[in-house]
Amino acid sequence: MPAKLLTGAPVAENIKSDVRLRVESLALEGIRPGLAAVLVGDDPASHVYVSSKVKACEELGLYSEKHLLPATTSVEELLDLVQSLNSNEFIDGILVQIPLPPQIHARTILDAVSPDKDVDGFSPVNVGRLVAGRDTLVSCTPAGIIELLDFYSIPITGKHAVVVGRSDIVGKPMALLLLHRSATVTICHSKTHDLAAIVQDADILVAAIGKPGLIRSEMIRPKGVVIDVGVNRVSDKAEIERLFQGDERKRRLDVIDRRGFTLVGDVESEGALDRASAYTPVPGGVGPLTIAMLMKNTVRAAQLRRKISKGAL
Ligand code: NDP
Repeated sequence: MPAKLLTGAPVAENIKSDVRLRVESLALEGIRPGLAAVLVGDDPASHVYVSSKVKACEELGLYSEKHLLPATTSVEELLDLVQSLNSNEFIDGILVQIPLPPQIHARTILDAVSPDKDVDGFSPVNVGRLVAGRDTLVSCTPAGIIELLDFYSIPITGKHAVVVGRSDIVGKPMALLLLHRSATVTICHSKTHDLAAIVQDADILVAAIGKPGLIRSEMIRPKGVVIDVGVNRVSDKAEIERLFQGDERKRRLDVIDRRGFTLVGDVESEGALDRASAYTPVPGGVGPLTIAMLMKNTVRAAQLRRKISKGAL
C-alpha cells in the first residue's frame, strides 16, 4: 500500500481556526495581538513571504505592520527600528525577514529582538528555554511539524527519530521538540559517517538538508514516517529524470517548461511513497505550516507577555 500523504493544508487550517477563536476571545479583553514584519532590500521572494504573512494576519484578525527599508540601510538604522518595535505596546511579534543585505550581520539584528517578541524562536534566550523544556516561543517550522504529527495521530514516544540537518532554524529545535516528546533522537549532519545506516533505522525521519533527493529510496525504513522539510528549486531536467519516474516525471518536466523550475524535497518521493507508512509531499506537506505557526506564535507572545494563562494557546 502506498504511504499516506501527510498534507499540510488541513493542519494549517486547524491551527488557524484555533488562532482565530483565540483572537476573538482576546478582543473581548481589549487585546489585539500585533505583528511587525521588517523587510530590508528588494529580494522578490522575501517580498512574497512578507506579504503572505501580513495577509494571514488580516485574515485572522491580528494587527500587522510592514516596515520596508532600502537595501542601503545601515546596521544602526535597523537596530533603531528593532528597538522601537521592542518598546511598542501594540507589537507582540517582530519578524525580521532574512536574508539581509551583506552589510548587515543577521545575528546582530536577530539578537536585538526582545525574546518576548521573538516569534521566530531564534533568540538564544528562547533556544535556552526550549532546551530546558520551558514554555516558550519555538521556531515555526519544527513546531508545525509536531502539530502535523499530532494531527495525523502519529505516535512519537519511544520512537527512534532521526533528524538530518542541524540548523538553528529547523534541525536543532526539531530534535529538541522530539526529545521532549520522548522520542529517542539521533541528529545527523554533513560530517555524519554512514548516513544511510542511521536513516534506515528511523521510525520517524525528518530531512532538513536542502539537497534534492539526498535521502534515496533504499535509505527509507519500510513503514517508517518521513517528514521532508527540504524545499529545493530544480530547473535541471536531467535531475528530474533521476528523481522521478512515470507520470510524476512528466508532470514535473511540464512544470519546468511552464515556470522554469519545480520544487523538490530532500527525499526521493517515489521511494517514500513505496516504502514509508506516511510521508509529507513537497510541495504541500510541511510548507503550509510555517505561516500558520507564525500566527500562533504571535498570539502566544501576546499572551505570554501579559501573563495570560487561562484559555491560552
Ligand atoms: P541549512 O543549510 O541551514 O542546514 C542544512 C543542514 O543539512 C546542515 O546542518 C548540514 O550539515 C546538513 N547537510 C548538508 N549536506 C548534508 C549531507 N550530505 N548529509 C547530511 N547532512 C547534510 O538549511 P535549513 O535547515 O535552513 O533548511 C533545510 C531545508 O529546509 C532547505 O531546503 C530549506 O529551504 C527548507 N526549509 C523549509 C521550510 C518550510 O517552511 N518548509 C522552512 C525552513 C527551511 P552541516 O551542519 O554539517 O553543514
